[in-house]
Amino acid sequence: MRYAMFSTVDDPSPRLGAVHESGMADVRKILGQDSPTSSLLALIQAGPEIWSHVAGRIAEHFSRTPFQSVYPVTGVRWHAPIPRPSKNIVCLGLNYASHVRETAKLDRPMKLPDLPIFFTKAPTSVTGPNDPIPWDRGATEQLDYEAELGVIVGVGGKNITRSQSLAHVFGYTVVNDVSARDLQFGHKQFFKGKSLDGFCPMGPMVVTADEFGDPQSKHITLRLNGETRQDASTGEMIFPVDAILESLSKGMTIEAGDIIATGTPEGVGLGRTPQEYLKDGDLVETEIEGIGVMRNRVTLAG
Ligand code: MG
Repeated sequence: MRYAMFSTVDDPSPRLGAVHESGMADVRKILGQDSPTSSLLALIQAGPEIWSHVAGRIAEHFSRTPFQSVYPVTGVRWHAPIPRPSKNIVCLGLNYASHVRETAKLDRPMKLPDLPIFFTKAPTSVTGPNDPIPWDRGATEQLDYEAELGVIVGVGGKNITRSQSLAHVFGYTVVNDVSARDLQFGHKQFFKGKSLDGFCPMGPMVVTADEFGDPQSKHITLRLNGETRQDASTGEMIFPVDAILESLSKGMTIEAGDIIATGTPEGVGLGRTPQEYLKDGDLVETEIEGIGVMRNRVTLAG
């Protein structure tokens, strides 16, 4: 299944949609108001039995009446699949060797991490897949992008073994881990420089794990004003998704709806010579094979 959160001009409240070749179906209209589908997060938290029930009902709807309760995908507003996560988004730093190499130019030793480097972004940083990236020049002068595969936890747990960990994943999405480099390094810990408002574009949809397949075989790209800046395979991750979940859940509970951004490959503005940061009006397109593309324009704000 492919799920998104969307709204329309007539009804601006975000709601759960199922993405189909015929358009965006309003899941609430297919299942009725009492179903646990007010949002994608509510569906995820309802658990695997409900997921298969809902998926079955949607498939049945499309097989019988594919155009009923469906909007054209270009006629709706796409929101982040989880517009307000219940916790910080967990991120990995330096999870592609190519990105470690490009940052090693910055007077740091070239050493691959022995363990995943975890940090987080504030839930308030999340924004939609086509929304502007607000640039508050009073807060930062060094705005940068990072294309990343996002993992959405479906079944929580603790001490999850590597062989079991992919069974805990609900699905996958695209994340741009927007970063204020001056704040990221100035404050020593990454949290502040990664958490400004609008610094986590997410979407355009979540593709469920069964449909997405192997998370380590996908093409990940980022284009800046049409020019390719990042171009890699998720197979290049130092710590693949199953190893990340095993490490993160060791002695620490992870829960349904938790979001993990799995790190970025080379090609960020920080790694260029000279370093090159985003400007007002820049269009950032972030894409992962099998999920889709986000288009976010940098817009002066604040
Ligand atoms: Mg990152």
